[in-house]
Amino acid sequence: MIEIKNLHKHFKKNHVLKGIDLSVKEGETVAIIGPSGSGKSTLLRCINLLETPSDGILKLDDLVIDAHHITKEKLLAARRNTAMVFQNYNLFANKTAIENIAEALITVKKMNKKGAMKIAEEFLGKVGLENRAHHYPYGLSGGQQQRVAIARALALNPKVILFDEPTSALDPELVQEVLQVIRNVAKEKVTMIIVTHELEFAKDVAHKIVFMDEGLIVEQNSASEFFASPREERTRKFIDHFI
Ligand code: ADP
Ligand code: MG
Repeated sequence: MIEIKNLHKHFKKNHVLKGIDLSVKEGETVAIIGPSGSGKSTLLRCINLLETPSDGILKLDDLVIDAHHITKEKLLAARRNTAMVFQNYNLFANKTAIENIAEALITVKKMNKKGAMKIAEEFLGKVGLENRAHHYPYGLSGGQQQRVAIARALALNPKVILFDEPTSALDPELVQEVLQVIRNVAKEKVTMIIVTHELEFAKDVAHKIVFMDEGLIVEQNSASEFFASPREERTRKFIDHFI
């Protein structure tokens, strides 16, 4: 579903991604872990072209993007094929939970309001928030807001959902409800890439773990192998620090 070849990103003199190769199969969940500043968010943002890669090739299903030839059409196609769930939910404050989802369907999928509201309701149900449909974000807990953001991403039915530390902004008691929703999504074989510091969760939800440091993938392996027998010293140190 996703194939990344030799992806580089520079911010002026700062060489942030130094040749990333990564593939993600359809229906697979990949967790990206690694220290702060290692380029995890930049990698996700390059996949949906929120950032322009400096070099490399990105394949999203049948869409092929060469960093040196990014057209407006490719950019729009990349956006249409991906959905992002951010640390800070990014809901519209002046729209209710159901309207937040419907609005995305109306603007991205060009649906009519009635059809969009129907699908929005269905996806709110999937994250257990059917009874919060008409609440505004300020009337929802952080965990509930993030569940609305996840429902919105799912409703768009993208080729891949990109999660950037979806539980990092939450109070500890709200983390599990969001992780549980993501676990349920993974069971439905939605293709996902999740940047997370929750190693236990990563181990249990992801098919593959990718460890990044200083703009490179240091090690990637199946979740069980990765934690049971890390091959690299840097990986071992990182895991030990967290567990
Ligand atoms: P991580 O998500 O792993 O913490 P980031 O991808 O956010 O790492 O950042 C990697 C590096 O890229 C950092 O040095 C950061 O300062 C730099 N960086 C990220 N975004 C930008 C930007 N928009 N402009 C300039 N530098 C950036
Ligand atoms: Mg980040």
